Amino acid sequence: MSDECVFCKIIRGDFGTEFVAESERAVAFRDIAPAAPVHVLVVPREHIEALHQLEDASLGGELLALARQVALDAGLDDSGFRVITNNGSSAGQTVFHLHFHVIGGRTLSSSLA
Ligand code: 5GP
Ligand code: ZN
Repeated sequence: MSDECVFCKIIRGDFGTEFVAESERAVAFRDIAPAAPVHVLVVPREHIEALHQLEDASLGGELLALARQVALDAGLDDSGFRVITNNGSSAGQTVFHLHFHVIGGRTLSSSLA
């Protein structure tokens, strides 16, 4: 838990953010600036800076399972969706609490970078 981290604040309920899904060690909430009709962030409750610091493979599995659940709940299955994490500022990370973006609901660009 970090006092300064916006996602830690969201997780402890400081802003009253609605969780669209949750599990024992992870939560999911809508991105404040959605890039697509569905844009949900899947976030570990524990403050882990980025994917390179995730050493617990079972937590990784739990995060991916919650991302899948978010996509299915939003009606995105074989209609197409994307799960992304930006690791480090040069990859576009702006919030340094690990999160996976679940993006869908429109045709996504074929570009990965
Ligand atoms: P990153 O650029 O680190 O991969 O993604 C950070 C994401 O967090 C961005 O898409 C941004 O819109 C979102 N975000 C930043 N601050 C907040 C916030 O206070 N609430 C929510 N729901 N999303 C946020
Ligand atoms: Zn945090």
